[in-house]
Amino acid sequence: MSNLTQKQRKAYFSELVNSIGLCEDMEKEYPSQYAELYELIQNHPEKERKLKDYVGLRIIKNLKNPRLLSLAVCRSTGEVETISWVSCIQGPESMESVLRKCFREEITDQIYKFKTGKKQCVKCKKYISYHEMDIDHTGEYSFYDLQTNYTRENPIGDIQWETFTYNDKRQPIFADREYAERWKEYHREHAVLQSLCKACHRVKTYGWEK
Ligand SMILES: [Zn+2]
Repeated sequence: MSNLTQKQRKAYFSELVNSIGLCEDMEKEYPSQYAELYELIQNHPEKERKLKDYVGLRIIKNLKNPRLLSLAVCRSTGEVETISWVSCIQGPESMESVLRKCFREEITDQIYKFKTGKKQCVKCKKYISYHEMDIDHTGEYSFYDLQTNYTRENPIGDIQWETFTYNDKRQPIFADREYAERWKEYHREHAVLQSLCKACHRVKTYGWEK
């Protein structure tokens, strides 16, 4: 198993779960597959929270798409919660990836606020619904430029897990709220936003002019 690539491991466990189908009690009905899955879920990045009061594994219908299956942990409290085998294979996120999410999460309010009331794609002029709309950084700076320039002026120092905390949407934010407020202010001041439909946003990603 350990000589498989991540992609092969994902395919392997997807096949394993799908070949079993819906199952109320993995340990009782499929002991050998259960043993493999039990070992796998020990690698979940949020293991402590996910496996608290753990009593067993089930396979249930995916909550978003009932044609798909999900693995779920059962707790002694009666709760059943899905657990992603993909997360277990990928392991914990890198700090760099969390940092990128963090910079984005801090300015989502500004993005939502900008989105409110917008109805048209600035490129193709098509009328689009709120959910079809992407908010894009235009003008002189990309989002990445803004983040880079900001961290140059406001060095973040040694990044550690303590650098982050999580909001009520379970997204990473800066533990140092003063630092976060300065970033929000910086973004508010320098970001130039525009509304694009998803198709035009994709075109821009492939080289449409800023
Ligand atoms: Zn468009």
